[in-house]
Amino acid sequence: MRIGLLYPEWTGAYGIMGYFARRNSTWPPLNLALIGAILEKCGHDVFIIDGQYEGLSPEKLAAKAVAKNPRLIGFTATSPFFGHQRLVAEEIKRIAPNIITVVGGPHVSIVKQEALLNCFDYGFVGEVEKTLQQFLQELEGGRDVSHIKGLLFKRDGQVIFTGDPQWEEDLDSLPFPARHLLPMGGYRLGTLQGRLSFTSIQMTRGCPWKCIFCASENLNTTLVRRRSAEKVVAEIEHVVDTWGIRHFYFVDDVLTLHEEHILEVCDLIEQKKLRITFEGSTRANLINEASVKRMAECGLIRLSFGLETVDTEMRKTMKKKVPLQHYVTANKLLNDYNVEALNSVMIGLPGETRETIKKTLDFLANTREVKQANLAIAVPYPGTELHHMAATGEHGIKLLSDDFSKYRRYGTAVTEVNGLTPKDLVELQNEGFVRIYSAPWRWRPMFGKHGVIGALLMLLRVGRLVVQKAVRRAFGDWQPPRLATNAGSLPAGHLGSPKSPNF
Ligand code: SF4
Repeated sequence: MRIGLLYPEWTGAYGIMGYFARRNSTWPPLNLALIGAILEKCGHDVFIIDGQYEGLSPEKLAAKAVAKNPRLIGFTATSPFFGHQRLVAEEIKRIAPNIITVVGGPHVSIVKQEALLNCFDYGFVGEVEKTLQQFLQELEGGRDVSHIKGLLFKRDGQVIFTGDPQWEEDLDSLPFPARHLLPMGGYRLGTLQGRLSFTSIQMTRGCPWKCIFCASENLNTTLVRRRSAEKVVAEIEHVVDTWGIRHFYFVDDVLTLHEEHILEVCDLIEQKKLRITFEGSTRANLINEASVKRMAECGLIRLSFGLETVDTEMRKTMKKKVPLQHYVTANKLLNDYNVEALNSVMIGLPGETRETIKKTLDFLANTREVKQANLAIAVPYPGTELHHMAATGEHGIKLLSDDFSKYRRYGTAVTEVNGLTPKDLVELQNEGFVRIYSAPWRWRPMFGKHGVIGALLMLLRVGRLVVQKAVRRAFGDWQPPRLATNAGSLPAGHLGSPKSPNF
């Protein structure tokens, strides 16, 4: 069967933010490439169109896909991206109503029946590696699909859910993602070592913790499974040999969850003389000097942490369970080994007040070990405990919108907390941005990552916010003319990635 897998463009509407997102974080849709590989293995004829990479509008993406004459088109989406997929699917149904459209991913897995809009014929809940193959077999044979677990479909005006699907226990049995279906070589990540041609890769699925802003429990991803070090390194070697790409982003939730495992990967990278660089995310208490030294020797150039807030009570509420002092130690350790450290910080979490935000910003302003920080507004994604807290008004947080397309971390907010309105949160995010990036010792990393144009845009933004604040102090609420952007602060981190597309 001819099958198209589509990834829509999402940065076009974000003005200056779109510049940074495109420049630093145009990510290969690894999830689609893995599905593509599984389908190719079953004999299907698959194509992927990365609308973000190609800069295609929903209409152009739909037209391009339809022109390739597929029988089925698939999408996968998180909540904030679901609206983008919907626009493309609606256009496909308008111009080619006979093409079967299917949708899966975290948003469908959380909201289930609600996601099966008229533009989608079938929905897939949970992991699709097994269910999609069964589904296509039955579809090609003209047989009933209602016995397949994990499926959403319509019957007599009702949306039927067939129950939770089986999970893939043995990740080593999966093929390497079909990267040959992607514009490899075109994906670049801004790092302190320049803009590196890269690909993403997965070693582990899942994370045992249950932070309130993460849907891990609802998505059943607290169950941790991992690929063998041999398989991971064989995939790295395959990418190096085939495309000459030497930077790898591990999309694992916690790269150093099993220290011995990542160190085994490092040993194999060294044995095979692969000369690559890599990066990932972890928790600040899950690294130590020996592991950082070894990972840096084998190519680690960046680690990201979720610092979130410095307020002790709020840290308890968000169930992060990593003592604050670990962040200072971990940042210092990475600085010592010349590994870039990225820290994600959030404002607007349950219990937040002006004072707690000030405490966090003071910490960032005064802690020289922390070279880079990314200040986001907490978003109550569906399926998270944070969403439940906001919906029920716990710890002073209140949900103001169910429109998931507005669930972005920068320049907008869908909650208020303890009297801080969305406008207040955006202003505080902007102020935080100024405080973080007006420190001269943070300018070098900024130039290194964003290039001259990007850094100048950032400095322009800082300058504008400083002027805006001074004017407001002097004259009240008058504002100087806006730059051509609808953006709030400018993040340094990973925007809109398929790993974490919650921009
Ligand atoms: S936020 Fe990170 S550490 Fe917390 S539960 Fe989610 S994946 Fe795990």
